[in-house]
Order: sequence, then C-alpha cells, then structure tokens
Amino acid sequence: MFDSHMHTPLCKHASGTPMEYAQAALDAGLTGITFTDHMPMPEWYDAPWRMHLSELDRYIEWVQEAQQAFEGRLDIRLGLEGDYHPGTERYVEKVLDRHPWDYVIGSIHYLGAWGFDNPEFIAEYDNRDLTGLYQQYYQLATQAAKSGLFDSIGHLDLPKKFGHLQPDPSLAFEALDAVAAAGMALDYNTAGYRKPVKEAYPSNSLVLEAVKRGIPFVLGSDAHKPEEVGHRFAEAVQDLEKMGAKVVSFRGRQQV
Ligand SMILES: [Zn+2]
Ligand SMILES: [Zn+2]
Repeated sequence: MFDSHMHTPLCKHASGTPMEYAQAALDAGLTGITFTDHMPMPEWYDAPWRMHLSELDRYIEWVQEAQQAFEGRLDIRLGLEGDYHPGTERYVEKVLDRHPWDYVIGSIHYLGAWGFDNPEFIAEYDNRDLTGLYQQYYQLATQAAKSGLFDSIGHLDLPKKFGHLQPDPSLAFEALDAVAAAGMALDYNTAGYRKPVKEAYPSNSLVLEAVKRGIPFVLGSDAHKPEEVGHRFAEAVQDLEKMGAKVVSFRGRQQV
C-alpha cells in the first residue's frame, strides 16, 4: 500500500514534519509515500492555503532529507497537488518545469472566486442549483484533464464534501472520458471519510464508471497531519478490488 497524497506545514494548514509523515507511514505498514503539497500558484490565487513560490526549494529539500533518512525502509517520492484554474496554466507549467516531480495531482478547489470546499463559505451552496454546480465543476475537471499538466485528478467529486451529493452520476461522464483519453489516473482519496459526506472521493458509482473506461486509481489519504497517513487504506483497497479497479502509483510521472 502506497499513500500518494499528503501535505506539509508549508501549505499553512497542515502540521507535522515530512519525517513524521514518513515514520507514520512505516508504522502503518505502508511501502511508500508521495508528498503532494499544495503547489505555489499566482499571488492572487488562494495564497493563505499554499506554499509561496519562494518556499518551493525548501519543500524539495525537506522531502529529500526524509528520503535520505528513510532510505531502504520506505520509498519516498516527491510530487505536488496543483490547482486547475483557467488562466493559470502557464504559471503551473513553469512551476512544474522547476523540478523532475514524481507525481502531479490536478485539483479543482474554486468555482470562479468561490472556494467551494472551504467550510467558511458553505452557505453559498444554498444559492446554487446542485446540477448546475456539478456541471460547472466537471467542465473544469474536463479542462484539467485536457490541459496535459497533471497525472491524475484529485478528489474527483469534491463538491459533495459537506453532503451536497451529486444529483446524477452522468454529470461526471465527460470528465471521465477526458481522463481516460489523456491516459490519466484518479486520486482515490480517503479524506472524504473524515468529512461530513463520510465516503471516499470518488463515490462507488463513479469508480465503476472509471473502471469501465480503463482509468486506474492512485490511493491517497490527503493527510494534513501524520496520524492521517494511510487513513482507511485496508478498507479502500478492499472496496477498489471489489469494484475491479486497478491501483497504481507514479514515479517520474510514469505509472508503476
Ligand atoms: Zn490542503
Ligand atoms: Zn491534498
């Protein structure tokens, strides 16, 4: 079991050093981990919730220190969780060019200016039509898949986080087709179990649709503290197996 989605305190909303995440992974019996902290974005975008560009080198160093300290005991890889937000593609490309990353997740955290997964702005759901909201969200996921910037889409059905469930699985089909066409994977993200929705992203019905399209999954706890590493992975692996899903991880941006 390999946990390919976790953060560091550089994003300003996580705790624990990379060494502590690595130790937690060893304790949980994992074979490896990939750090995927929230990547630097343009100054105007979501700045309080991610590392600044000037911290990118420190991030790389921190992970390299953990790699050395755990060599031979734990496979530690270095990635990023990027955001897909129209207009930022070129900036993202420049950040990605700065290092040979192992794995890059593409996540959508904003619909326009609305950070829809931020509990502070949950009231905005009452102003929205759920079908329209999911349509808008999946349009962005489709563009993210077509951008060629990312290896996977993060927590695919994220707008359900607070319980606003997707009215119809077919709203995701175009995005799933785009993910399959791009040869990408999907983040199978167990953080949903720690949120009001109490299930993984994506839901079982979307996993089955992904399996039909030959899309593999990458296991991720989305840990923002060391004790969340490998969260609910034994169950997640069982669930994915039952649904016939293939599980992969990424090294050097290639599926392994
Ligand atoms: Zn985060
Ligand atoms: Zn994350």
